[in-house]
Amino acid sequence: MRNVRLWRGLLGVDKRTVIEDIEFDQEGADGVQLVVARVRPRSGVSRRCGRCGRRAPWYDRGEGRRRWRGLDWGTVRVWLEADAPRVNCPAHGPTVVAVPWARHHAGHTFGFDDTVAWLAVACSKTAVCELMRIAWRTVGAIVARVWADVDKTVDRFANLRRIGIDEISYKRHHKYLTIVVDHDTGTLIWAAAGRDTKTLRRFFDALGAERCTLITHVSADAADWIANVVTERCPGAVRCADPFHVVAWATEALDAERRRAWNDARALARSEPGRGRGRPGRHAPPRPGHEKARKLKGARYALWKNPADLTDRQTAKLAWIAKTDTRLYRAYLLKEGLRHVFSVKGEEGKQALDRWISWARRCRIPVFVELAHRIVKHRDTIDAALDHGLSQGLIESTNTKIRVLTRVAFGFHSAEALIALAMLALGGHRPALPGRC
Ligand SMILES: [Zn+2]
Repeated sequence: MRNVRLWRGLLGVDKRTVIEDIEFDQEGADGVQLVVARVRPRSGVSRRCGRCGRRAPWYDRGEGRRRWRGLDWGTVRVWLEADAPRVNCPAHGPTVVAVPWARHHAGHTFGFDDTVAWLAVACSKTAVCELMRIAWRTVGAIVARVWADVDKTVDRFANLRRIGIDEISYKRHHKYLTIVVDHDTGTLIWAAAGRDTKTLRRFFDALGAERCTLITHVSADAADWIANVVTERCPGAVRCADPFHVVAWATEALDAERRRAWNDARALARSEPGRGRGRPGRHAPPRPGHEKARKLKGARYALWKNPADLTDRQTAKLAWIAKTDTRLYRAYLLKEGLRHVFSVKGEEGKQALDRWISWARRCRIPVFVELAHRIVKHRDTIDAALDHGLSQGLIESTNTKIRVLTRVAFGFHSAEALIALAMLALGGHRPALPGRC
């Protein structure tokens, strides 16, 4: 073929691929345009097992000709076509041969796979699917094989000292992942489906006994199964409470209190006179119960958000709560007080926590009195977190990002695809676009 370098560049293949012929074609009634490039591996790289890459004797013709989708040329779809015979690998038995333009078992070329992985990390689900003209499930399969390749080239567990272990739900809270983050780099380093002792032991198995001894701090929520495995595998490590979870406890208590206030307002509303249709008359009696219930319903985010992130409307809403429901406002201040403890950290944080506990104990809001008990119970690990200054912001943002991802990855078929996307996006190994350095 003439201009072989040009064709190789366009197809995204290297010298290990021989291009035999390129044909422009139209397919189907609506005449979809496509290019089919007939290719084969150069003889030096042919006859290798698709799984391990070792040379092996021919076995049979397999399923004959196969096609791999490549990156579009403009708007025209591109396919690579080749024989896909099988070799008889001493280790893997009859296996389809390795091809230099695509991953084993893939229906797309390296260039296509890598572009999809880059896009999946960088933009929305709809954008990836529409641009690449593939289903979201296919994106999941591609992301999984790209991550499997990246994983072979990186040492995820290098220099691990301070780690955080957490469980997060996916599939509308029916399933769980156990995840491990590196506190020093803020990256996700490991994730697996399941949340139990057995799952977490697999992480420490992968880390290896020697590196387990190097772990100095482990943060986690208050789950016993995590504490047990950590004590078993890293007996020397300091166990810390995960500030993200402790603050989440307070947020939950606050939400219970907001529901209480809303129910009170609704009970009041029921005792108020009903109104007919249309605009109320000028002399209609005021209905504070209705009014309050309506306003409280929209107060959730004003109460949840960090004060610095509040919009003007939300600030106004908080001011309104402070005036109309002092008990709910007290609950809000208690939540913020606990956040403050973790933002000052250290000795100052511990003193702030002492004051917070005595405040919460006598706040006359049952859920916060209960929370004070719970915090006293976990005081050791909370103090350890304050002493060692585990950054709450970092854990919070990693946590939030993973939760966003679990929603994005909802349409994936397997937990593996979700984990792969999370590792590529948050593991510090973002995929590169093909042909760029
Ligand atoms: Zn093999």
